[in-house]
Amino acid sequence: MKKISPPPLTKLRRLVLELLVQAKEPIKAYDLLEIIQRKGGPRLTPSTIYRILEYLENQGLIHRVNSLAAYVACDQGLADCHSFLVVCPLCFKTTEINDAKLYHSIFDRLSDLGLAESLGGAEIRGVCPQCATNQATP
Ligand SMILES: [Zn+2]
Ligand SMILES: [Zn+2]
Repeated sequence: MKKISPPPLTKLRRLVLELLVQAKEPIKAYDLLEIIQRKGGPRLTPSTIYRILEYLENQGLIHRVNSLAAYVACDQGLADCHSFLVVCPLCFKTTEINDAKLYHSIFDRLSDLGLAESLGGAEIRGVCPQCATNQATP
């Protein structure tokens, strides 16, 4: 699959994206504000960080994890990501499942019902292997 290169990012947008890529787990907007400041970055207002996150989300570079009110870097790096996010209810680790066929078959079914809009950011709860192991051995 051809990788679509995103448009050039401003310094701040790039910084936020890099933080999310490095974290490999969902981060809340307010925690991002704190991390940026701790790293000696500018003191951003919540509305600034939300604007940046909204931009990155619209570019398909990150996903909003609605159930956690947090953001996670898209691990596909594709503008047309067709992913489901599987969120572990115990450690909040998020795994991205990219399956265009599955996505479209659900999308088409929703479309039939007039519910197409509801699929964006679809999330599934699933205990991750690490937590499953921890649970099995008390
Ligand atoms: Zn994605
Ligand atoms: Zn877990």
